[in-house]
Amino acid sequence: MGEHLTPTAIAHESLVQATTNQNAWIEIDLAAAAGNVRSLKQAMGGSELIAVVKANAYGAGAAALAPALEQAGVARFAVVWPHEGYMLRQAGVALPILVLGHAFPADAVPAVRSRLTLTCHSLELGEAISRAAANAGVTAKVHVKVDTGLHRFGLELDAAVALAEELRNLPHIEVEGLTTHMANADEADDSFADEQHRIFRLAAQRLPWIPYRHTANSATALRREELRYSGVRVGLALHGVIPPNTGGPVVAPILSLRARVARVTAVEPGEGVSYGLTWRATAPSRVALIPVGYADGWRRGLGNEGSVLIHGKRCPMVGRVCMDQFLVDVTSLEGVAEGDVATLIGSDGNNSISASDVALAAGTISWDVLASLQARLPRFYHRAGAVEALAPPMW
Ligand SMILES: *Cc1c(COP(=O)(O)O)cnc(C)c1O
Repeated sequence: MGEHLTPTAIAHESLVQATTNQNAWIEIDLAAAAGNVRSLKQAMGGSELIAVVKANAYGAGAAALAPALEQAGVARFAVVWPHEGYMLRQAGVALPILVLGHAFPADAVPAVRSRLTLTCHSLELGEAISRAAANAGVTAKVHVKVDTGLHRFGLELDAAVALAEELRNLPHIEVEGLTTHMANADEADDSFADEQHRIFRLAAQRLPWIPYRHTANSATALRREELRYSGVRVGLALHGVIPPNTGGPVVAPILSLRARVARVTAVEPGEGVSYGLTWRATAPSRVALIPVGYADGWRRGLGNEGSVLIHGKRCPMVGRVCMDQFLVDVTSLEGVAEGDVATLIGSDGNNSISASDVALAAGTISWDVLASLQARLPRFYHRAGAVEALAPPMW
């Protein structure tokens, strides 16, 4: 952790200028992100927007995106690891930060120092938080999670109620929140949410003194008004990607992944390309080398399946994805040359490729496609093409 997390401000430069000598990069549209915050806040009525920025904000870069979301009017942040919370504080985030995942008693002191709201799953952790808060002369807020059927994190109904009551009696602790998480929110049939909601309601009835309740991720929040409660934990929808089973307010994708063609090669009929020579030309062909690979999070499963946009046209990926590059067939496209922009995610002209399109081609989900994008890719933050900040590549 340190300075390298803080994106460098660069003023008065266009995306085109800033990326001239970049092999590959991510563009984050901060104006689109602010628009998504507005749309989602409106759609959620009185429920607070809790921006989930775990996993480096799903590949978008939390250190720059979180302050922009804060400015755009989200109410709180959520992460999964305590250290993600410390990094958000380093990035200057002032709003409440909820840690959704596991914490050790040893996390209590730094978490209290960074004013993180931990999800408390044991009396031992609660006592450590209580001691840390007493030493710091503050009251620490915690949330209690009920496992209503996902069997991932949290306590069964009776144990959750018992823990909440015990935590209530500890000094310097305030049990602020009661929470759970849905098992099949983004699936065609999300009816198990009704059974989970039944158990959550029992917990809420037995713990009426806990003021803040939250149960919904993007899909649940958009689909089920009754599960919005005090706040909704929205990740994917803030990125302008709507879960497959879900309708919702108009949101715009915030992330584009682009690269510059590194080389164009002629391939004769019968010749193959990339490891294993799994694609062979059937006619005189030209292939363009794109300097992005699975080390950047561009899935190996996309080999011979995915496509990219060059000059606004869809070009099929050919051969295997390597660690640092892959090839696309540009035979039908005149004049492709070294330095031309290839769009892997995003729009070019009238065409676009969404994270969901990539997910479908790779046999995975859009969350996975975004969260896989690695730190080797520099990230440019812009509004209407004017770059405001750069997050340089990291090891
Ligand atoms: C990741 C996560 C979310 C956000 O999910 P989206 O589908 O991206 O909105 C919400 N709650 C919990 C507990 C999570 O782990």
